[in-house]
Parts: sequence; C-alpha cells; structure tokens
Amino acid sequence: MTDECIFCKIVSGDIPAKIVHRDDQVVAFEDIKPAAPVHLLIIPTRHISGVRDLADADLPIVGQLVAAATRLAKEKGIHDQGFRLNINTGPYGGQTVYHLHLHLLGGRFMTWPPG
Ligand code: 5GP
Ligand code: ZN
Repeated sequence: MTDECIFCKIVSGDIPAKIVHRDDQVVAFEDIKPAAPVHLLIIPTRHISGVRDLADADLPIVGQLVAAATRLAKEKGIHDQGFRLNINTGPYGGQTVYHLHLHLLGGRFMTWPPG
C-alpha cells in the first residue's frame, strides 16, 4: 500500500466503496462518478501504478482483472449485449488515479471514438 493512493485505501477499507468483488488478488467496486449504468473499477490488491509499470512477473494479474470483469459483466446482466473494458494510461490517456484499474462500462450503447 502507498500512503497517498486512494485505491489502496479502498482495498484496506480506509476509504469506503461499494465493493462488488474481493479476493486475494483483485477488488472490484462501483465508480464514484459512473459514466454508464454499469461502471465498475477492477483493480489489483497490490499497488501497481499503471500498465507502464507492469513487470513481466505482474502480467498474470492483468488476466485476472479481465477474467473478473467478464464474470462481473455476467453478474450485472450486460455480458451478452456487450460492454467496454478500458485502461486509461498517463495524462493523455486520461488516467487520474495512479493505481492500475480496469474500467468495466456497460448497460448502454458505447460510441467510438471516445472523446
Ligand atoms: P481514471 O481517470 O484514472 O481512468 O479513472 C479513475 C476513476 O476513479 C474515475 O472514473 C473516478 O470517477 C473514480 N474515482 C476516483 N476517486 C474515487 C473514489 O474515491 N471512489 C470511487 N469509487 N471511485 C473513484
Ligand atoms: Zn494503490
């Protein structure tokens, strides 16, 4: 855990969140400012700043994030209609929280390209 990281504080319970999944490796919770009817953030319990900071040994966690997202899409009833998985990276990528997170967005039609 890093002292400044809000997502580490959500993992530890120091900041409340609507948690929808938790295991040793992965936590998922509702985005505080949802951009779609379903908007979950799926994160590793261990602090990794973003995809640019993934070591080779960290790569399995990315698969676990995606697997959790697919399971949660089923639970939320948006699996078959489709959904969007998004990892914003760095300032130009729109990343505002520097703890790796996968956005799961669904429940409405998504346009492309994003803004
Ligand atoms: P990013 O812009 O880094 O890709 O995504 C960060 C996301 O975290 C944003 O969608 C934002 O609404 C969400 N967020 C920021 N602070 C909090 C918080 O304290 N709790 C929750 N649940 N979501 C947060
Ligand atoms: Zn963190």
